Amino acid sequence: MIIKKTIEQIDKMKTAGQVLAGIFQALGPQIAPGISTREINDLAERLIREHGAVPSFLGYRGFPASICASPNSEIVHGIPNDAPLVEGDILSVDCGLILDGWHADSAYTYPVGQIDEEAARLLEATVRSLRAGIEQCRPGNRVGDIGAAVQRVVEDAGFSVVREYAGHQIGRQMHEGDVQIPNYGTAGRGPVLEAGMVFALEPMVNAGDWRTKLLDDNWTVVTEDGSLSAHFEHTVAITPAGPMILTQPLPERAPA
Ligand code: MG
Ligand code: MG
Repeated sequence: MIIKKTIEQIDKMKTAGQVLAGIFQALGPQIAPGISTREINDLAERLIREHGAVPSFLGYRGFPASICASPNSEIVHGIPNDAPLVEGDILSVDCGLILDGWHADSAYTYPVGQIDEEAARLLEATVRSLRAGIEQCRPGNRVGDIGAAVQRVVEDAGFSVVREYAGHQIGRQMHEGDVQIPNYGTAGRGPVLEAGMVFALEPMVNAGDWRTKLLDDNWTVVTEDGSLSAHFEHTVAITPAGPMILTQPLPERAPA
């Protein structure tokens, strides 16, 4: 089943999403050589609470932090620690919050200082694949259209898309309903999309093979072959007019 929201509920989710988007914007300039992922976590948690929101990752199934911080070959669910980031790293930050009972979930892979050409290409392709998936979030399309669009962009760029972890429904809970939103698949297959559905779309893209490995901490997921991995995520509502990204900041000024 796919849960649907009213326009008023989507509006509340958008308010939560805009707070989260602002936090990602604020983290950007801080993510540089020398800072640790624990410091980034602490900053994110402080900003979440300053906005009257609650960090949704903290304590989720026992997760010990407010962000997942996954550098380089870590794909998702990395635990923040005291190791300083190094020039040339890429860092995937995944973060969620609850505001007025509504969840927002987003992820962004940041370059740390100057990154090499392959890493830059990986980030660019992952963003483009997320955009392609979002573009499919229209009434009448199917869940498989989203994954197929993501997968095509990723594989055309010579990279691979993670299979074992998927996007999800989101609303009153971070992961809700029983239908997942995979980042690969077959166009025209799966449940039909309707206005009012809200998904967290989150392609995880590996520079090498798509296979993953879980580390001994039982959280951190890494690429099996040690290649780099990137992760971008937006919370997206399906409206009669098409996709509406809830986790992006409001423009500074209204367009002229
Ligand atoms: Mg997330
Ligand atoms: Mg998510």
